[in-house]
Amino acid sequence: MIKEVIMYDVIIIGSGVAGLTAAIYARSRSLKTAVFEKEENVGGIIRGVSFVTHYPGVSYNERGDEFVSKIEDQTRDAGAEIIHEEVTKVDLNADPKVVYTNNGKYEAKKIVIANGTTPRKLDCHSEDNDTLISYDAFADSSKAFGKEVFIVGGSDGAVKESIFLASLANKVHITHQGEALTAIEAFQNEVNSKNNIEVHLNTRIDSISGESGNVTVKLRDVKTDEITEVSGDHYVFAYIGGVPNTDLYEGLDLTDKGYIVIDKNMKTNIDGVYAAGDIVDNDVRQISTAASEGTIAAIRIADELKNA
Ligand SMILES: Cc1cc2nc3c(=O)[nH]c(=O)nc-3n(C[C@H](O)[C@H](O)[C@H](O)COP(=O)(O)OP(=O)(O)OC[C@H]3O[C@@H](n4cnc5c(N)ncnc54)[C@H](O)[C@@H]3O)c2cc1C
Repeated sequence: MIKEVIMYDVIIIGSGVAGLTAAIYARSRSLKTAVFEKEENVGGIIRGVSFVTHYPGVSYNERGDEFVSKIEDQTRDAGAEIIHEEVTKVDLNADPKVVYTNNGKYEAKKIVIANGTTPRKLDCHSEDNDTLISYDAFADSSKAFGKEVFIVGGSDGAVKESIFLASLANKVHITHQGEALTAIEAFQNEVNSKNNIEVHLNTRIDSISGESGNVTVKLRDVKTDEITEVSGDHYVFAYIGGVPNTDLYEGLDLTDKGYIVIDKNMKTNIDGVYAAGDIVDNDVRQISTAASEGTIAAIRIADELKNA
């Protein structure tokens, strides 16, 4: 039997905060809306964050999964379809646009690209040490219990997750290649107030080897090249930024680092194709900016469809 191709006003790729917000606003303008999400869970990066900070209205110590579940409910209540299929190919220049997934083919008048970034892997990451490194402290928090853990990174995210892990691990070592942590002062003050967090500046992790329970971490002082080797019941969590998920798309204007170039209406260089969230060329990457960009994209799409 030939499967009928479903036609939407707007298809949104990715169910992070940018994608869900775009869906809520698209539905507020009565657009037939589908959000595609490759993972079992909705919500993207923020779902895996220990505590959400600085977003207006968020409660003290609100967990990422609690926070994003509310947005998921709101999106479904608004009448958007959330389809758990991976987008594998998109014909952005066609009219209507065509979206192919691991399970079928869909069409839409407009597209919002909101499929975010993938955590950058440590350059000493290999399949052999796959079980010794995590990029998601909340999901893998059980791996920190009673251990000495190493965090790689000095940004807000890395330092915030270190503070969370310090409540579970015996000791947390923050390793950062720079001269100083880049995290906000409030997080750094919290780090200084914990007696089980040690900060190692000008330090990179050269290698991680061994097996669970007996892991050797080689630390390099990037100024002197001196190596320190530590062995024991260790685990490593890395937060060294993300790589934009733009491989799927052909013909889009991208920056040198692969982020999508957009105008102030979140339009890309291809007609009818918008983008929002961490995947776009905007130096500030927060949930408030993701929500703002998703809002603008959806409202501009509704305007375009109304005036067509
Ligand atoms: C550790 C950490 C802590 C943070 N804490 C905060 C905070 O407290 N406050 C704050 O404001 N910001 C915080 N941020 C930043 C914030 O999480 C991000 O800016 C925001 O969540 C990005 O949302 P997004 O919708 O752009 O992308 P994402 O959340 O990355 O969502 C993209 C979605 O697209 C899906 N996807 C990818 N490819 C495909 C495909 N081919 N088909 C279908 N689906 C696909 C992914 O599975 C994912 O669900 C933090 C970031 C980190 C790393």
